[in-house]
Amino acid sequence: MHAPTSEPPLYDTAHAPPPLAFQGKQGMTATNSDSFSSLPISPAQIANLESLGYLKMTPIQAGSLPLVLAGKDLIARAKTGSGKTAAFGIGLLEQINPRFFGVQALVLCPTRELADQVGKELRRLAQAVPNIKLVSLCGGKPFGPQKGSLEHGAHIVVGTPGRVLDHLTQKTLDLGGLKTLVLDEADRMLDMGFLDAVSEIVAQTPKTRQTVLFSATYPDAIRKISRSIQRSPATVTVEEEHEPGVIEQMFYEVKTHERNNTLLALFEHYQPESALVFCHTKKQCDEVAEFLDANRIQCLAIHGDLEQRERDQVLVQFANNSCPVLVATDVAARGLDIKSLQAVINYELPRDPEIYVHRIGRTGRAGEKGLALSIFTQSEYQRVQAIEGYLSRPCACDVYASLDRVPGYTLKAPMVTIQIDAGRKQKIRPGDILGALTGDAGLPGSQIGKIAIFDMCSYVAVERAALRQALNYLAAGKIKGRAVRARKINA
Ligand code: AMP
Repeated sequence: MHAPTSEPPLYDTAHAPPPLAFQGKQGMTATNSDSFSSLPISPAQIANLESLGYLKMTPIQAGSLPLVLAGKDLIARAKTGSGKTAAFGIGLLEQINPRFFGVQALVLCPTRELADQVGKELRRLAQAVPNIKLVSLCGGKPFGPQKGSLEHGAHIVVGTPGRVLDHLTQKTLDLGGLKTLVLDEADRMLDMGFLDAVSEIVAQTPKTRQTVLFSATYPDAIRKISRSIQRSPATVTVEEEHEPGVIEQMFYEVKTHERNNTLLALFEHYQPESALVFCHTKKQCDEVAEFLDANRIQCLAIHGDLEQRERDQVLVQFANNSCPVLVATDVAARGLDIKSLQAVINYELPRDPEIYVHRIGRTGRAGEKGLALSIFTQSEYQRVQAIEGYLSRPCACDVYASLDRVPGYTLKAPMVTIQIDAGRKQKIRPGDILGALTGDAGLPGSQIGKIAIFDMCSYVAVERAALRQALNYLAAGKIKGRAVRARKINA
């Protein structure tokens, strides 16, 4: 049985990959020591870190913290799972004066989920500093309670750019006393069209502020915004180096009209149990997902056109084994924490080799073997060459006709997801759902998978064979004494 989770699995740290400290090597650090006690931080924080089980710094922390603590502007290239939140969080907390009741640190995040995750981690770190107030300002939540929290005084604000800007416009937020500004997942924030909002927010902060920018990639747009909002920033990079051979990479040259058939051949030959297929455009995602579905490969498309609720549903199903394949754009896939992905397939190669490396880094994690398969046409051969140059080694190419295929191969997830119309707001906890299904409904625990609780609804994965029994019970029975509505959602 999968352990039930109380959080949406997207950012469930219990299921997140281990910090990169345990996976990779460090590109550059500003200190020789990886002990927190080598930093100029309070003994209370050192004790707090110990109690959190943070015994030594991850590479991104060792690289960034001395600079953040020295008040320097910084560009840090690291992604979720690297320990990046503490890499800026410990630093910004040291600089806060709890006796001054004004916002002294602002962390901007691209999504509500990331803001929630960052807020949680900062709260854990803030245990070391008495009387620190952190307020979360995210879109999709009511404005009034946020305004109320701000009126009571906040030292740290974590939020999404649109809503933070709304508060500035309404004059419910004042950033005149800001010391530290952090842009988290800055590349994604720009991809999502937040450049103007971020610029307007920055314009309302003091010029003397420290600006820290975290980004998984370093495209031109990031260089540009850094130039306009930072002062001589230092750069910290942590290279993710996979052990050689951990990710098997193979490239297939095809004619344009053979792309779909090749994709299917890859599934029929390699038979991965889980895969992320990368496409270039939203339209392509939908078309490829439709094609795979019509050919017995169960999958879902995820791209920027989905509403938050649809996106949540797709991610829940992928994380809880109800959907084996996601077809995604780079923007939609960034920031996902996906454990044990067997294969990454590039339906089309990216122009930038760095994005290729970023994409394939999602497979072969935590010591498991990974598979990276790429389809390219003759006119895209330059992209293969760029990857070869970037990796300093030749790419293995093959033709898809050489792939042994299993005719009639079907890929279907072992689980299905049930949506229940009650969530955190109704005080539902994973144990309530698990208890109802195993107790009154009589299902064995082994047939129940992950449980994810959202504000207004919950999702539970059950084995396909147990679906009817679970739905029958939920149609007639109760959870926590309350009648609920439940339905299967479609992968
Ligand atoms: P993040 O990249 O900030 O999302 O952090 C990923 C996970 O690593 C979180 O669960 C953190 O609580 C954890 N973490 C951060 N720093 C350390 C550390 N130095 N030692 C152990 N775990 C850590």
